[in-house]
Amino acid sequence: MNIVVTKHGEGQESTALHDELRRALAEVRPAVLIDGNWQAPAAGNSLEVDDPADGSRVATIAAGDEQDIDLAVAAAQRAFQLGPWPRLPASRRAAMLFALADAIEREQAEMALLESMDAGHSLRSIANGDVPLGIRSLRDYAGWATKIAGETPMQPADTTCMDYFLREPIGVAGIITPWNAPFLMVLQKVATALAAGCTVVIKPAELAPLSALRIGQLCLEVGIPAGVVNIVTGTGAVAGQALVDHPDVNVVSFTGSTAVGKRIMAAAAESNLKRVVLELGGKSPVLVFADADLDKAAKAIVGEITFKSGQYCAAGSRVFVQRSVYAALLDRMQAAMDRISIGPGHLATTDMGPMISAAQRMRAQEIIDHSIAAGAVVQRGGHARSGPGYFYEPTLITHATPGMRVSREEIFAPALVVTPFDDAASPHEVAALANDSAYGLSAKIWARDIGTVHCLIRLLQAGQVIVNGGGGEATLPFGGVKQSGFGRENGHVGLSAFTEIKAVRLGY
Ligand code: NAD
Repeated sequence: MNIVVTKHGEGQESTALHDELRRALAEVRPAVLIDGNWQAPAAGNSLEVDDPADGSRVATIAAGDEQDIDLAVAAAQRAFQLGPWPRLPASRRAAMLFALADAIEREQAEMALLESMDAGHSLRSIANGDVPLGIRSLRDYAGWATKIAGETPMQPADTTCMDYFLREPIGVAGIITPWNAPFLMVLQKVATALAAGCTVVIKPAELAPLSALRIGQLCLEVGIPAGVVNIVTGTGAVAGQALVDHPDVNVVSFTGSTAVGKRIMAAAAESNLKRVVLELGGKSPVLVFADADLDKAAKAIVGEITFKSGQYCAAGSRVFVQRSVYAALLDRMQAAMDRISIGPGHLATTDMGPMISAAQRMRAQEIIDHSIAAGAVVQRGGHARSGPGYFYEPTLITHATPGMRVSREEIFAPALVVTPFDDAASPHEVAALANDSAYGLSAKIWARDIGTVHCLIRLLQAGQVIVNGGGGEATLPFGGVKQSGFGRENGHVGLSAFTEIKAVRLGY
């Protein structure tokens, strides 16, 4: 099984490479990766993967089930209990992770195109964002592999025992990822688990599984031993559920919706009390003050809600703006939306690609329509773009009340809800608007007054606060509070999900 063409894409027009990749993908036979072998799924079932830009079939993948998950977990347990991976000197694991980063980097143009075709996002955003960020994260974790350590607490000199604790890999990690950043989510989780000495079973999103399959191939190519990385594609209800129910899985690292996260937590409790890390949905507030650089703010806010067609978990989607600059910001955001070039992700000119599926687009439309019926006003967009594919117009909504669905639910479409607040509102009052949500993934502030900024950073209920633009970074912890989940990814704090502590008192 080889899901990419052999050239590395340099110097090729993205459309030519796109056509070549499409031909290669059409030939791929559905397979799961178990114990170092690509094999047909046990029941022989398959799923179609569509190009969201036109609905055409891109590839046929395996629809794995309980039997495949059983085999994959058994292979991962064998590799953990008996195989070399957890026993290797950490520097050898690090070297293989660095080699994997180099291999991905060598074919980053193809990887970006594969991801763009699969998830629909603009090639530019993947090539400049997800792919280099994923590679940086992988290298960061390769570096951490040699620095995972326990501690020896200070003890009296005349003690007759020695106290210390070890940090050990937790075992087999189930990795379940969404379709909105499939490459990045899989790579970050795999990098963390492997650096810690764990083995993994990956269940990628069924709507965009191709980059995960390619990562699996590259893991084998760089010499990561058989059974360390296993991949079972399939639906969440069957393959995903079997993985979270499995008694021999020690931790599930999940990124996806809050609804599924809750089911996973319940299944983890009922099966073997496996550990769970839940990176869930968001409805992130953006606070814009009159002293902010409005041009920069408008461009960044619109850029963030459109670069993945609104399907970015941490995107600021509820904009609260000081009343004196409300009209000015609205005008600028409208102008920024007008400039967004919409088209198939793989075209170099595209700023915003399609949404992932007809179902996601219909769900977003239903939430927006429901709020319009309740009195919200659409200033721009508010509807699908006609023609093939799952495109949606960049949308600005005003006059939404806090109780409306557009204010409370994750729309996951390129839609912003914009609400003014009084110029005299205190930071506590502004924070209360921002915190009026079940979610707490990210919060953004646009302001120059450092006092306001400091005060709000402390008051906002979010796992991340971004001030005056920018996104996350591979070394900054990422995760949510409230119903955006718990646990943090990235950097050394991300490793704790995949390690267990063993306390030792050694008498003599
Ligand atoms: P989803 O919850 O529908 O699916 C995520 C994954 O879970 C998929 O692989 C799916 O097959 C699997 N799954 C579904 N049902 C399952 C079950 N019963 N048992 C086990 N696995 C199951 O989410 P999605 O629609 O793919 O992704 C979008 C969601 O992900 C949004 O809510 C978004 O905010 C969230 N997200 C969060 C982060 C973060 O870091 N917090 C990052 C990206 C996306």
